[in-house]
Order: sequence, then C-alpha cells, then structure tokens
Amino acid sequence: MTVMPADLSGIDVRAEIERLRKERNAVILAHYYQRPELQDLADFVGDSLELSRKAAETDAEVIAFCGVKFMADTAKILSPNKIVVLPDINAGCSLEDSCPPEKFKAFREAHPDHIALTYINCSTEVKALSDIIVTSSSAETILQQIPLDQKIIFGPDRHLGGYLSRKFNREMLLWPGVCIVHEAFSETELLKLRAQHPNAPIAAHPECPPHIVDHADYVGSTSGILQYARTISQDTLIVATEPHIIHQMQLSIPDKTFIGAPGADGNCNCNICPYMALNTLEKLYIALRDLTPRVEIEEPLRLAAKKSLDRMLEMASGTVGKGDLGTR
Ligand code: SF4
Repeated sequence: MTVMPADLSGIDVRAEIERLRKERNAVILAHYYQRPELQDLADFVGDSLELSRKAAETDAEVIAFCGVKFMADTAKILSPNKIVVLPDINAGCSLEDSCPPEKFKAFREAHPDHIALTYINCSTEVKALSDIIVTSSSAETILQQIPLDQKIIFGPDRHLGGYLSRKFNREMLLWPGVCIVHEAFSETELLKLRAQHPNAPIAAHPECPPHIVDHADYVGSTSGILQYARTISQDTLIVATEPHIIHQMQLSIPDKTFIGAPGADGNCNCNICPYMALNTLEKLYIALRDLTPRVEIEEPLRLAAKKSLDRMLEMASGTVGKGDLGTR
C-alpha cells in the first residue's frame, strides 16, 4: 500500500496533535527507535515489553503507536476494545518478514516435542503458533523458568537465539531470521572506533551477530542499554543498536557522549531502521485526525496470539512456576 503525501501547508502539526490527543482521549506510545520528534511528544517511550505493558494497562480510547506493525498488532491483541492506529501501515520488520506463518507451522509440526519460544518481532499468526513470546528484555528471565529438559524452538531472530543459547548453555533450534539493522554493523569499523576511544565501553543489542556481541562490555535490550549508560563511570559509550536510542541517552545523561557503532561504510546511516523511519509527525497527525491506518485482527486469531503474549507478561514478572510450562 502506498501512503500518499498530504498537503499540510498552513497546519501547525504539533498543535493539532496536541488538540487531537485530548479530543480523541488518545495515548501516544513510541519506541526508542523512532525519530526524536516523535519520542519527544509521546506520552510514553519504551522498549517492546514496556510498550506492551502500557498498551495492556491504558484507559485511553485510542492508542497511536509510533513503532512498527507487529508492535501495533501487539497493542491491539492486548487492548481489543481500543482503536489502535499506526502512522504508516507499511512500517514492517525484516524479522517478521523472515518467518512466514505457514513455514513456521510446518517447522513446528516437524518438531512436536519442542515448545516455541518466539521473539515478539513476528506476525500475529506466528504468535498464535507459539507457546511463549519473549522480548529482548524478558528473554533471559523467561528462558530460566523453562525446565532444562524441555526442547525449544527459538525464532525468528537467530542472533538473539544464539546469544541466549551460548549464555545459558542450552541447545535450541534456531529459525534463520535476522534484523537487517543489527546485521549491518561492521566488526572492522567497530574495532577502529574502539581504538580511537580506548576507554569507551561498548553496549550491544543481542540482535547483533556474535562478531559484534563478542566485543561488547554490555549486552542487553534497548531499555537495558539505556540503564547501563546511566551507570557507567566513563564519559563515552559506543552504542551498537539502532541509533535513535541515543536521543533518550542524551536527554537522560547530557554530560556523556554516545557514539553509534558504524556500519561497513564507517558511519551508522545504514543502521537506521528503514521501517521505523517511515513514521513521521505528519503521518501521526493524519492518523489521529482520521483514525486510520487502523489495526484490526480477527477475534479467533487475536485470542490465539494473546495466549503466548499473556504467558510472556506473566513470566517476565516471574509469576509462573517452573512446573507451569506445558507445550501447546
Ligand atoms: S530495528 Fe530490526 S528488528 Fe527492529 S523493527 Fe527494524 S528491522 Fe525489525
């Protein structure tokens, strides 16, 4: 679907968003990878787990989700009675694209003794085929609650799955998906950058491949990296994840320097998520004005996907016991 540019000349887009936010009783949620201007006017900025919790808790009538489609879908799954709008409905994700539901279903059927532990970056259909959803900030907590003799399929991010597998010494069958953004970091350029800033630690997201993660002083989710930035004594941090997270770091810790890890061309432009970048202030305004593009999910599919998401929300809080993990 092509989103046509609208003529918004003469319209104070920010003022209109403020007006519509109140008029619609809307909450604006934004992921850390969104453009700074969207982060700045959001009611809440967070990672996938935090945004899922906000979507489940909100009493707003409209959720304007500044993120990608699977995130807006998650908000709709958890808050079916809310209107959920996504400023650009084409904001997809390479991980979601890598895991077609029919292939994932066949993979599951070929391994009936495995449970499916699935990264939240997937379609609603794949969530419905999964046992437990994880985010990068909840994956370790959840994995540690799964009995050691339980066989596991992990998808769709093979790097996050591989990282968990190495860290906890657990074999898992990995789906071969990758995030095109984290895949683009260059080890050679990262080492050159570290040589220029020998005292700067490196923080990396576990969606990065092992040749990047292996150089990191800290590996964690976007919220984990943000928290790590607050605790380090050094005045400079090299950040190997989507560079828009640096906006929150600069707001939160203005006296430190944050440098985005480079791609193969020596800068980090190739590491801006092209899907996240589709959302703009203007598209957010139109979404609030017209209440479209709207996310809709058929009820049977929503209920099937909600089971694995509910399991995540319970287990991320550590409220599920070790014996409570049956397969589908
Ligand atoms: S940064 Fe990667 S995982 Fe996140 S939405 Fe973009 S393509 Fe998907």
